[in-house]
Amino acid sequence: MRTKIAILLLPILFFMSVPPDAVAVNKNDRTYDVIIVGAGIAGLTAAFSLTEYDLLLLEKEKQVGGRATSGQYQGISYARGTEYLGKPEAPLAGIISTLGLTLREIPAPADIIFHRGKMFPGDYGKARLMIDKSSLGEFNRFAEKILAAYEDYDDLPDTVLRGKLQRLDTITARQWFAENRFAPIYSELYNVTFRGLFGANIDEISALSALPELAFDFEGFERIDEDDDLAEEFTDDRNSTGMYSFDRGIAEIPLAIANHLGNRLRTGTMVTAVERTRDLFAVSCTQADNTRITYRAKAVILATPSAITLTIAGEALSVEQRKILASVSYAPYATIALFSEVPIFNQGFDLAVPDGLLFTDIYDATWIARHFKAKLTTQQTWVTLLYAAPVSYRNMALLTMPDQELMSTVRTQLDYILPGSSGFIKKWKITRFRYGYPVMTPGSYQRMTRLQAITDGGLYLAGDYLVYPTFGCCLIRPTCSRQGGRMV
Ligand SMILES: Cc1cc2nc3c(=O)[nH]c(=O)nc-3n(C[C@H](O)[C@H](O)[C@H](O)COP(=O)(O)OP(=O)(O)OC[C@H]3O[C@@H](n4cnc5c(N)ncnc54)[C@H](O)[C@@H]3O)c2cc1C
Repeated sequence: MRTKIAILLLPILFFMSVPPDAVAVNKNDRTYDVIIVGAGIAGLTAAFSLTEYDLLLLEKEKQVGGRATSGQYQGISYARGTEYLGKPEAPLAGIISTLGLTLREIPAPADIIFHRGKMFPGDYGKARLMIDKSSLGEFNRFAEKILAAYEDYDDLPDTVLRGKLQRLDTITARQWFAENRFAPIYSELYNVTFRGLFGANIDEISALSALPELAFDFEGFERIDEDDDLAEEFTDDRNSTGMYSFDRGIAEIPLAIANHLGNRLRTGTMVTAVERTRDLFAVSCTQADNTRITYRAKAVILATPSAITLTIAGEALSVEQRKILASVSYAPYATIALFSEVPIFNQGFDLAVPDGLLFTDIYDATWIARHFKAKLTTQQTWVTLLYAAPVSYRNMALLTMPDQELMSTVRTQLDYILPGSSGFIKKWKITRFRYGYPVMTPGSYQRMTRLQAITDGGLYLAGDYLVYPTFGCCLIRPTCSRQGGRMV
């Protein structure tokens, strides 16, 4: 799912009005209305929405963006994490327009499936492959089942967990495929899709969390009859891919928000502890030059992965909050940028490879820029991205495998998909993520609903693990509050 924007709880105004007390801090320090920890998209958008308050956003890295940063190679920007979005809705659409960013719909073919030596481009290619490996009747049944199940779905916290949806939260995606007796090709194709999108496999994620991604693939689907021309049914493929980014990648959004925030953002500042002292919070940090500082705030938003939130603010959280945070597991992940003087893959934006390889997708990092900027069409530099997902989120090998070993596997597997292409690699850059994706295991919607309901007392949680593991879903819309009707 790349389109939905969820609402997080942020009833902080109430806490901004409490009087300061005597927290031990640097003499010249002041009491901020709100301190936000973590300048990933969740923390940045929280700050963007609260700029009329006295706020500080603290980020441990030198750059902002968290899992949505870009690298640079000879003037070419390439994604190191987040690659694309669905069509942005409010509030993301508003942020993009306020910041004057130029959104690009990714030109077709945005998705190509590689299966047994052949390429199947776009929705048409995917349908062709599924129908060939099952039947038209089976394909229709698969699509209709997904759309029927998705009908009542909404993002957290709006999902009403009852009836069918509640049950789908308790079973794995594999169980749902099996009880519907879908032909093996469906679980085969979607297992690798889920590994790529969630860093976890079909036996690990809940059926409910798989649903938005499945439904995204069948948006606007209408039953196909035997005498219909299949290619005709997918003419939209050429006009609209429903996938979006920017010339310099998704990182344009975090960078533009950071620019907008100016000196309210402090990078290179690692928060080591958040403590409650009566009505205020003390936020202790280590700065880039290794000096320590403690800030004081009336409210704190923790927009860090759950494990980090637990470590730095454990004492300030309730027993139940700690218990739920500790139950969130993260999949490791790695992306590998390959630099070459000739193209390695340039027939589309994303090539999905068969299951069982180290990587699940091959992206042409120059696809958007080449399409929209004529000057890049005769370029001498190409950047190809491999997205490496674990076979199971419990397998941490991606984090510990030495670079040379990882690259040796990459070269062998790349040649299997695109023969001879490993010889084109001139340089490479590996980015590893310990907290790649929060895994939506069975029961996660129920746990997250509960976690959101018990967030109060001036200490707030934000981030994709509370909603859904995509860029657009962890945006905060601070005009909504569920607690006591307090609005910010
Ligand atoms: C490889 C990869 C590809 C992806 N591709 C897509 C995609 O194509 N489309 C999509 O929609 N989603 C994608 N996602 C998911 C998406 O990137 C995330 O859901 C989203 O970026 C999470 O944002 P966040 O703000 O919750 O967390 P993060 O981006 O992780 O931000 C947390 C921030 O907190 C900072 N921090 C941590 N500890 C501290 C501390 N102690 N003090 C101060 N700061 C701290 C971190 O440095 C980081 O900047 C991808 C994820 C990965 C890993």
